[in-house]
Amino acid sequence: MRASCDFCFRKCSIEEGEYGQCHVRKNSGGKIVSPHYGEIPAIALDPVEKKPLYHFLPGTKTLSLGASGCNLFCDFCQNWTLSQRISKGEHISAEKAVSYAIRNRIPSISFTYSEPLVWQDFMISTASMAREKGLRTVMVSNGSFSDEALKRILPVIDAFNIDVKGDEDFYRKICHGSLAPVLNGLEGIAGKHVEVTTMIIEGIHTPSMIEKIGKELYQRGISVWHLSRFYPNYKMNNRKPTSELYLAKIIKIAKTSGVPFIYPGNSFLKADNHCPHCMKPIYTPPLSGECPNCGERIYGVWT
Ligand code: SF4
Repeated sequence: MRASCDFCFRKCSIEEGEYGQCHVRKNSGGKIVSPHYGEIPAIALDPVEKKPLYHFLPGTKTLSLGASGCNLFCDFCQNWTLSQRISKGEHISAEKAVSYAIRNRIPSISFTYSEPLVWQDFMISTASMAREKGLRTVMVSNGSFSDEALKRILPVIDAFNIDVKGDEDFYRKICHGSLAPVLNGLEGIAGKHVEVTTMIIEGIHTPSMIEKIGKELYQRGISVWHLSRFYPNYKMNNRKPTSELYLAKIIKIAKTSGVPFIYPGNSFLKADNHCPHCMKPIYTPPLSGECPNCGERIYGVWT
């Protein structure tokens, strides 16, 4: 008997004994299950800025957990050994992860490295327990939620970093997905702490594509946008890395979008942001929630 998975925008209808497009969710006896539930090949303690989140508990560490799998198939994937194949990992329970974070005074747990949407059952049970114990939770995602996933995930996640990878054409040709569910996802998580990342591939991310993305982000009230340099990887390992010069040019264009805080990533460039109220320069990433000049509240979660 076929059965459907509602974990992401693809809504795969799966034959008995087969897997969905992510190779993570399986139809077993007419029920969709996660055979690798709780297997976590990637565990690390990271600075929260590495997610990247620059306006969420700055200067703190986060316990990062990553299971295998993804629902997109980006040719440039920087983590493809984890996202594009199923790796065996240590079996971690929600209790074990949460008690480790508490014992070591780590204020947050992040679900990251691959695509947590496809292992959201593990993420939701771990995040629920983490929040009950007073920890914060972070989801680093491509944002292609289904409506059902959004309803389940919103109550248990405090902060999101969402990749907005390119325009619709870019998603179709290079990610084998679609931009539309990502933009819907950004609307769905409005009200939570949200930062967005776009990885810039020189020669593909043109100034006009960045203008288009910037417009979509501004319309959705996004305040923090990370633009990071591409390094050759996976099926795009024969391209040149994006140059610092090109990233600087793209950042200049991104600044015309009206998104107030823009950060270079994988780069030696320094951020150059201003208080959206008094327009005086702000040392960024900021360490507190107020402009040192005019006292205006700065977007973020600071304590
Ligand atoms: S998580 Fe997404 S890609 Fe995977 S089976 Fe479910 S709907 Fe399909």
